[in-house]
Amino acid sequence: MKYDVVVIGAGIVGLTSAYHIKKNNPDVAIAVVDRAPTYGQGNTAKSAAGFRDVFTSDVNFKLSNGSISFYREIQETVGRDIGLKFSGYMFLMNRGDRRIEKLKELSRKTRISFIDASDLREIDYLSLVPDAESAGIMGLREIDSAVLARNCGIIDPVLLCKYYYDECMALGVEFIFNFDARDLELEPVNRLDFPGEPFIWQDKRIRIIKSGSREIEAETFILATDVWTTALLDLTGIDSHVRPKKRQVFQVGGDKIPEMVFDDSFTGEGICPFTILPRDGIYLRPAPLEKSFWVGVADDIGRDFSLSEDPQPEIPFYDMNLLQVIRSYFPAFSRTKMTSGWAGYYSYNTIDKAPYIFRTLNLLIATGTSGSGILKGDGIGRTVEAVYSGRSSVKLHNGLEFDPAMLGVKGRNVEPEEIIL
Ligand SMILES: Cc1cc2nc3c(=O)[nH]c(=O)nc-3n(C[C@H](O)[C@H](O)[C@H](O)COP(=O)(O)OP(=O)(O)OC[C@H]3O[C@@H](n4cnc5c(N)ncnc54)[C@H](O)[C@@H]3O)c2cc1C
Repeated sequence: MKYDVVVIGAGIVGLTSAYHIKKNNPDVAIAVVDRAPTYGQGNTAKSAAGFRDVFTSDVNFKLSNGSISFYREIQETVGRDIGLKFSGYMFLMNRGDRRIEKLKELSRKTRISFIDASDLREIDYLSLVPDAESAGIMGLREIDSAVLARNCGIIDPVLLCKYYYDECMALGVEFIFNFDARDLELEPVNRLDFPGEPFIWQDKRIRIIKSGSREIEAETFILATDVWTTALLDLTGIDSHVRPKKRQVFQVGGDKIPEMVFDDSFTGEGICPFTILPRDGIYLRPAPLEKSFWVGVADDIGRDFSLSEDPQPEIPFYDMNLLQVIRSYFPAFSRTKMTSGWAGYYSYNTIDKAPYIFRTLNLLIATGTSGSGILKGDGIGRTVEAVYSGRSSVKLHNGLEFDPAMLGVKGRNVEPEEIIL
């Protein structure tokens, strides 16, 4: 089997990359391979499935705002339901939170409104002042204001992936599942047939990928393999520049929870906003189908960089870390039950928390989504296409542009992101 382009990984990044490359280069023969039996089974399936364009770094804002613009078109103009609900993100803030200034700046570019304490007091299930014991032990402080970002909400990643998969199929992209690519082997571009090739002075490339006895040859390989990129690249000596961190989502239900989930008063979308607590970025994501909240956090210090194939949610982590804080602000959580949970990984760019998209040899690497690969998925696919086609500008669906070299390794120029959830 021989192709012009083989995309390894059929998550959101692989699907959007294949779609934009094929759409802009119809004559290019493309296959997408994945070790899973179908598309969208990796971290894309594990996400909290929120979307936002509230990012402090300019390129993260552009990628997310451009992707949301395209997702809105898919749902509202094309008429394909991808579960997009503009139910907002609400950041609950302590006095003096330094993100407020950044968000005020951002409010010139996207829809953000500011809510003061007097309005927050109207929310009967929210306690602005944690009890003295919680305040003392956990260092919790009074909520003083909130920021409601409106070009944000929730999405269904399964339906989103299905959209790109169907579009890829219609354009003639091939899919090969149950293909576990192993050990990328460097070969000389011009073979001399001497033992020990490739020598240091020979140009090198990857010619084939193998899975058991199956081999696939390509001119260009695109690694859309998220946290598994490092292992795939290890033999080649090429650095992926990303580190994995386990991330968990806990589903929580209870008597008062549906009333909170279906609180329509913020955006009129029928559900409450994706709500971020002032402490450590703990979030409550409304899950209307389950009449529950999905609860999560991007914990940092103390969370190691290990990677396992079947990560499990840690119930004591929920009980001792998340629940304690949440119920101090939302007392109804004292009478809730955690009904299920799951875990996956963020592939972190540990420096600036924006994706890495770069070319080396005949490999194009797209990883480091740092916890927001779905909401930036379309923009990442467009960037991969621009790098593949050798263009010095990416045009996003919202019309914003940037130089894709910004997201590379050598020409990188991204300010560190301050809002990671
Ligand atoms: C708990 C949690 C919550 C999250 N919440 C959000 C959120 O609210 N919003 C958001 O935008 N993002 C969120 N994310 C992040 C988001 O899920 C990722 O950024 C995104 O899914 C990355 O997409 P991907 O295509 O790069 O990776 P993946 O979906 O992991 O796809 C990579 C694919 O590569 C395949 N693969 C790997 N190695 C090989 C190999 N050797 N051979 C063949 N195939 C291979 C895998 O099977 C997989 O299908 C969350 C993630 C987690 C874990």
